[in-house]
Amino acid sequence: MTMFLLDGGPVAPDAPVTRTGGTPLAPAGTLWPACAACAAPLQFLAHIRLGDLPGHTTPAPGVLALFMCANRPGQCTQWSPTAGGNLALLLPDGGLEPVPAPDGVDRELLGLGAVRAAVPARTAPGTATILGRFGGSPDWLQCDETPSCPTCAQPMVFTVELAEGPDPVTAMNFGSGRAYVHSCTPCGRAALLWQC
Ligand SMILES: [Zn+2]
Ligand SMILES: [Zn+2]
Repeated sequence: MTMFLLDGGPVAPDAPVTRTGGTPLAPAGTLWPACAACAAPLQFLAHIRLGDLPGHTTPAPGVLALFMCANRPGQCTQWSPTAGGNLALLLPDGGLEPVPAPDGVDRELLGLGAVRAAVPARTAPGTATILGRFGGSPDWLQCDETPSCPTCAQPMVFTVELAEGPDPVTAMNFGSGRAYVHSCTPCGRAALLWQC
């Protein structure tokens, strides 16, 4: 069954809830990740608690921490699940701490500028902004691009789809498209790609 993630309004930047924007949470000692293409810090997009998604059937719900390159001129193949212009981490849900920002980096490149709770709902009320959806199958804008797990080579499992968000200034940039996150729980891997 398809369900929605609705805009739940502002929330603290380091809140341990499903949200877009704010500060990444990760195991202690985690360094802020860098873009594999340009080597500059990635921008943090979202913290997704899989245990918050009703009907999610992975044996051990974890947390997705999603990042993407926002550095100019924006030619780091950010849409690709494998090029390194984005990063999706599948982390344990618990014992996570805010990841310190790297020194001397433009804060505007590290976050979205607004932090919004993303609340699961079975239906989308007419006035609520949809931040994403999960369950069912991906709503591909282009052809099916289900990624293979980089560890076991099996097709990864569709986990959550993200929209850009309501604010044109602080939105995630998917080229006016949608992002798709897949995961392989046994291998502890996740992958982010987007289409427009
Ligand atoms: Zn880059
Ligand atoms: Zn795997």
